[in-house]
Order: sequence, then structure tokens, then C-alpha cells
Amino acid sequence: MRSRRFAKTTHAGCIFEYVYLARPDSVIRGRSVNAVRLELGRQLAREFPADGDLVMPVPESGTPAAVGYAQESGIPFGQGLTKNGYVGRTFIQPSQTIRQLGIRLKLNPLKEVIAGKRLVVVDDSIVRGNTQRALIRMLREAGAKEVHVRIASPPVKWPCFYGIDFASPGELLANGVDENDVVQGIATAIGADSLGFVSVEGMVAASQQAPAEVCCACFDGKYPLGLPEGNPNAAAVEKMQAAQAAKNASATA
Ligand code: SF4
Repeated sequence: MRSRRFAKTTHAGCIFEYVYLARPDSVIRGRSVNAVRLELGRQLAREFPADGDLVMPVPESGTPAAVGYAQESGIPFGQGLTKNGYVGRTFIQPSQTIRQLGIRLKLNPLKEVIAGKRLVVVDDSIVRGNTQRALIRMLREAGAKEVHVRIASPPVKWPCFYGIDFASPGELLANGVDENDVVQGIATAIGADSLGFVSVEGMVAASQQAPAEVCCACFDGKYPLGLPEGNPNAAAVEKMQAAQAAKNASATA
């Protein structure tokens, strides 16, 4: 028996594992997922401070980032939503109707915590925006004075070809708003008083991984393995990449 190395190995681990996918008690490449999420919250508070009375998470994956945000900002932390633990994760369910139904079944507001407060609501990511839109409406109905949304990852703009079901680029909220001001466009679409996303650089720094050794493609469109052939979403991505290159070229001209 003989073995030989036929190609140089490179590593490009999924950054979304740290942001949302992995269990918080996981350790990936020597870094605790819970510690990354706490640090993402602190980073978010440094990048996008907010005037608020209460920092509250979207349970449960937004919780460590909300704790980090509260620690860094000095704004008190509280639980303004309760979660029904029997309903599955929202963005990987198959149809729009089931997803929207899922949101209602999943989270309930605690009116006595929310009423009259300027809330800083921390979530892990925005993919389609359905959860956040329904949630902000629910918080206002429960008496929130202001709702400032802070997201512990950058806007998801690009599809994943490596196994995560974000569906087509057209279904991602970041692609359905004014491309000249994506953040304001998303804030308007979900009904937030203000919105901030942690930067790609801030997210990678929180992971403590080498930038060249992580995949951030769904956030920055840089696919470490290139695009798959014959995939209809790949053709859409090529068009998006060409449009972005043209925009960058005209900005530098
Ligand atoms: S594109 Fe990369 S970072 Fe995003 S979910 Fe897929 S593997 Fe993870």
C-alpha cells in the first residue's frame, strides 16, 4: 500500500457555521462558536452603536450576540420574546406559507418587557427578511417605542453552492432593494427605525480564523471553489459579478 499527496490542500471553512448553523457549544478549528457569537455582538456595538433602553435577542441563535452587544454598549440586556421550542428553523423550510406560519408559531412577545422601550434587537443574519419583518410588526403591536435592528453578520447577497439552502439570488432580501443603499433598503423593507450589519472584516476577525482560510461567499460573492457548471443560480451569480465589476470600475474611473 502506498499513498501520495496529489494536490496541495487549502482550507476554506464556512463562516456561516460560526454565525448561525453550528450549535453554540461546538468548537470549530479551535474556536468556540459561542465565543465567536459573543464577539460578533461586541464588534457590532462598536461598528453600529444605538440609542436604546434594552438590548434583546431574537432567540435563540441571536442570544450570544445580543449579550455581547449589551456588554460592549452598556445598555441592559433583556428577553423580550419567548420561543416555542417545538418549531423548526425558519429559513430552511420549503415554502413561503410554511415559513410565515413558522414565524408566528415560533416567537411570542413579552409585552411588559417591551412596552414603551427603545429596543435594540439583535439577530444573527437576514436572509429573506420574513422573520424580521413579522417580528418588528409584532414588537410594535406589543408597544415598542422604537425598534433598532442590529445583525451579527453582513447582508446575505449571494447564494451558497456548498450545501446551504438559501435558494436563488432573487429570493434574498439584499437583492430586492435599492442597490445604491442596501442597508437603508432592507431597513425600510423590514420596518426598522435603524439597521446595522457587522462588516465582513469584523466577522472574520471575530472568528479568529485567517481571512484566506474561510468562505464568506454568501456575504462577499468570492467563491473559494468557483461556480458550479450548469447551475441556473451560477448564471445569475455571473451576471451579478459582472454588474459589480462594472460598478467598481466606474467608481474608480
Ligand atoms: S457560501 Fe460559504 S460561508 Fe456561505 S453558507 Fe455557503 S459555505 Fe458557508
